[in-house]
Amino acid sequence: MEMEQIYRALGVSEDVYRFGEDVLQSLESRFREIDRVAEYNQNKVLLAMQKNRVNAAHFAATTGYGYNDEGRDNLERVYADAFHTEAALVRPQITCGTHALTVALSANLLPGDELLSPVGAPYDTLEEVIGIRESVGSLKEYGVTYAQADLKPDGSFDYPAIEAKIHERTKLITIQRSKGYATRPTFSVAQIGELIAFCKKVKPDVICMVDNCYGEFVEPMEPSDVGADMIVGSLIKNPGGGLAPIGGYICGRADLVERCAYRLSAPGLGQEVGANLGLMPAFYQGFFLAPTVTAGALKGAIFAANIYEKLGFRCVPNAAEPRHDIIQAVELGSAERMVAFCKGIQAAAPVDSYVDPIPWAMPGYDSEVIMAAGAFVQGSSIELSADGPIREPYAVYFQGGLTWYHAKLGILLSLQKLIDKGLASLS
Ligand SMILES: *Cc1c(COP(=O)(O)O)cnc(C)c1O
Repeated sequence: MEMEQIYRALGVSEDVYRFGEDVLQSLESRFREIDRVAEYNQNKVLLAMQKNRVNAAHFAATTGYGYNDEGRDNLERVYADAFHTEAALVRPQITCGTHALTVALSANLLPGDELLSPVGAPYDTLEEVIGIRESVGSLKEYGVTYAQADLKPDGSFDYPAIEAKIHERTKLITIQRSKGYATRPTFSVAQIGELIAFCKKVKPDVICMVDNCYGEFVEPMEPSDVGADMIVGSLIKNPGGGLAPIGGYICGRADLVERCAYRLSAPGLGQEVGANLGLMPAFYQGFFLAPTVTAGALKGAIFAANIYEKLGFRCVPNAAEPRHDIIQAVELGSAERMVAFCKGIQAAAPVDSYVDPIPWAMPGYDSEVIMAAGAFVQGSSIELSADGPIREPYAVYFQGGLTWYHAKLGILLSLQKLIDKGLASLS
């Protein structure tokens, strides 16, 4: 087997390949631990599917109103059981993660209520949803106010500041698990549990929602296991397993999820309408594959951190840290390096490998963004992709990989592009 030769055919030089193999040798025990978590989570999903007697009838397409859509309803029971919640809303009509979060927030916040983020600024697209940046249709326009407690400089929760921001109008607390486009740490499920317990001690009836994007199946537990009233995410990230072509989910307390369903469709209609349009096979099978797909992506993230830290770039999380999401930030220090890195990721893709990524002004983001993705599903970030806003500290956010081998090739090719341009060196 001429492994080096096939890598060379894909554009990876012998030096870069060898460098990668050296790094990999040190990662064996960590990869074994990732496989253990995937094994546990696979069984968790299987238990939920078996309990709900998933069968071929659940894969049937529905159209129009989608009344009595047993496949759709059963999928929601599967999600609820796998995430240990009372209820779930899992729909192709939820167009993306931002939409899922918008539904969860606008369904459960009324005029006069306040939303609190105790973990600093939220993900870029949420700024317009909340009205931190003026926007048509924001929560702010509807009279919902927003408060924020920033993290301490070391990235930990500022409990006194959080307590000071909770008052009688504080209705919902939003906790973003993943770092998103920031270089703060991602929170572990255990840390989120502590934060929720603290908030509920200050105000027992406050709703705690977790933006779970990128976190699903990274750990054996989810935030819903440690007190979150709602967890929210996108199906073109981890839980869709790469097969879901669209969709989002909201899992949580039945009364809160019910409000979300009325917001998503219409008051009075709720969860009973919404045709599945033939997407059930992809949703079920994607959820089934999600634990192993997430494991592959995690291996890629750890491999990237170990490669790039060795070359002197700051990585968040660093090469040795435990993982709580699939995102790897690499601070490359210049726009030029960001572009080269992304060209490498693009060149490794199964789709659009010949395309050259360039920075552009993407809707919802306030600076230019570069993105590399050769995905089967547009914008899917459980597929191998890299992106980042062109601004200090010029960090690329690398994530995904439907298989570990593809993630590995992407990282090796990103390094190759940097070396070829003289923007990094192996010694
Ligand atoms: C991706 C992401 C979102 C938004 O999801 P989209 O599907 O891109 O709209 C929100 N929050 C976090 C933390 C994310 O990673």
